[in-house]
Amino acid sequence: MGKASKIISQARLEDRKALLETEAKTICMEYNIPVTAFKLAQNEEEAAEYAEQLGFPVVLKIVSPQIIHKSDAGGVKVNLKTPSEVQEAYRKILKNAQAYNAEAQVVGVLVQEMAPQSTEVIIGAVKDAQFGQTLMFGLGGIFVELLKDVTFRIAPITQADAVEMITGVKAYPLLTGYRNTPPADIDALTTILLNTSRLVMDYPEIKELDLNPVMAYEKGAKTVDARIILE
Ligand code: ADP
Ligand code: MG
Repeated sequence: MGKASKIISQARLEDRKALLETEAKTICMEYNIPVTAFKLAQNEEEAAEYAEQLGFPVVLKIVSPQIIHKSDAGGVKVNLKTPSEVQEAYRKILKNAQAYNAEAQVVGVLVQEMAPQSTEVIIGAVKDAQFGQTLMFGLGGIFVELLKDVTFRIAPITQADAVEMITGVKAYPLLTGYRNTPPADIDALTTILLNTSRLVMDYPEIKELDLNPVMAYEKGAKTVDARIILE
């Protein structure tokens, strides 16, 4: 049994619908979807040690089954440059999580590689009652949230579908390079869409999948946050 099956069965056993970021990213890795390197720390010394191993700067994030939107809970600290900054962030994150939801069970604090800033895209999947697994593509931030500038295709998708999804958003010119921003690696984004399609076709029990954001680089792309919700 692969890692994805094990993680999904375990979540089912524990009656958890929302997978942890660590679990969602481990599943992504099995499907060759690039994610930021990470390690789960249980105390602040361990967090500092993992930060040294991963290389500064790092990002720290709360890992709790009850906290799905981590930044809403003050559970994300970015651009931590020294061991003492990491330790302080660790304490703050735990404190914020406690204040946000006193009942929240904390699995640990995720220490992860900080992905350089770039154009952010969102790749997602939702299981539509009528059409089944459906993939979504859009640019991050206001493009999805405010302008609803997204494209959809019913899974499984072909390479041509994936390219159409990317080139089909109104904001596509932002991915072809503008001013000081280099063009994004469209092949890398296409591959992530195809791999996401494979993943949700293999697991019909996935109700929602969100890679939000994915940093689109001139060469390659990296998923910074992954969320998977089961039926
Ligand atoms: P959530 O969506 O649960 O609030 P995220 O993991 O998406 O939490 O983190 C919030 C924001 O912090 C992201 O949208 C991204 O801008 C930034 N961020 C998170 N992790 C990283 C990372 N590893 N590298 C760079 N930026 C990050
Ligand atoms: Mg996110």
